[in-house]
Amino acid sequence: MSNAAETRLWHPFANMADVKQKPFLVEKADGVWIFDEGGRRYLDGTAGLWYCNVGHGRTEIADAVSRQLRTLDTYFVFNDFTNTPAELLARRLSEFAPMESAKIFLTSGGGESIDTAAKLARLYWAKRGQPERIHILSRRHSYHGTNGFGTSMAGIETNRTGFGALLPDTTRVAHDDADDLRATIERIGAGEIAAFFAEPVIGAGGVRPPEPGYLEAAAKICEEHGILFIADSVIGGFGRLGSWFGVERWGLRPDMITFAKGVTSGYLPLGGVAISGAVADVFWEAPGNPFPHGPTYSGHPTVAAAALANLDILEREQLLQRSGELEKPLYDMLCKVAEHPAVDHVRGGTGLLGALELAPALVEQDKTVVAKAQRAVREHGAVVRPLASALAVSPPLIITEEEIGLLGDSIVAGLDAITTR
Ligand code: PMP
Repeated sequence: MSNAAETRLWHPFANMADVKQKPFLVEKADGVWIFDEGGRRYLDGTAGLWYCNVGHGRTEIADAVSRQLRTLDTYFVFNDFTNTPAELLARRLSEFAPMESAKIFLTSGGGESIDTAAKLARLYWAKRGQPERIHILSRRHSYHGTNGFGTSMAGIETNRTGFGALLPDTTRVAHDDADDLRATIERIGAGEIAAFFAEPVIGAGGVRPPEPGYLEAAAKICEEHGILFIADSVIGGFGRLGSWFGVERWGLRPDMITFAKGVTSGYLPLGGVAISGAVADVFWEAPGNPFPHGPTYSGHPTVAAAALANLDILEREQLLQRSGELEKPLYDMLCKVAEHPAVDHVRGGTGLLGALELAPALVEQDKTVVAKAQRAVREHGAVVRPLASALAVSPPLIITEEEIGLLGDSIVAGLDAITTR
């Protein structure tokens, strides 16, 4: 591709007026590195969009995909059809899921998984004779994708603004205050509420680990009021928070868990919902109760084969444990970088992800400073993610401590560049 021609590709969330003349072309990737057209390498400090947990260039996944494409390329799992990779994947995930007798519904990504979980929660209550339980609670700052329910539940206001009327019966609560959750439930009435969605560590909303005790208290409040507790582990799963489903470190046992991203390390698009036996039984144990919902690519065999190969790598290389070991070195690096005058504070320390909030004075002075900082860091050799007024990192779980140091050096060099220009 030549940069001379204007792009025709509409980039998500991008200001195309700025991007169209000069998109940044990624040509190839290997391990923790991506390479541009000229062969220059950049440390993938974000693992793509928080997904490339096993790192790039795993031939084992490529081979599994290739083998599957040559055997059963694609087929659906509607009605009584099934295929071996989808079955194996569901079995393996159900064994990992921190819930009794989990069932697995597969989708093509996180947003579809959110809509699946929200619809299932509402239908579950209707089947249980409580059709008025349709309200959905989520947290401020939360991100649950860009589908219908996810847009309506969004805790990032700009992501739900400008589209006219969204789904009614969604309410946001404070992201870190269990008392606000309780008060909101009492105000709306528990009998009207289907579910509460929560990311264990808020990701796109700025990387916000929970206050100590918050998630446990929120789960307990939901249980007391019979409200389904749905963990959105789209970012948190598959090692990002040191465990399979991102909630185990708090001892949570959600009614449902949405996942995506790290389940294939992003090699192919896959998401899903783990559903506790108690919820699933309403459909699985009573004849004549289908869930009238299903994306075309649910249970896609080639995508499932990619996931199985990815899970093999995560297990064999003990990357969940490794993520836990790297949590502190990553946080220490960010704290050191935060001594830079361009940085106000760090958020992180829980899982292999973190954010540097830029100094308010800088952001007030120039609304584009975060985008500029992200580009300057890239010019100095690393990919970081602009999130509101912060820069986020979430490296592949295979990153070394030395590479964490390199990531820190690139960030400092980028921040120097924007503050001394
Ligand atoms: N939930 C969370 C917590 C996410 O971070 C994301 C994506 N960043 C989604 C849902 C949506 O996933 P997708 O982009 O695959 O639809």
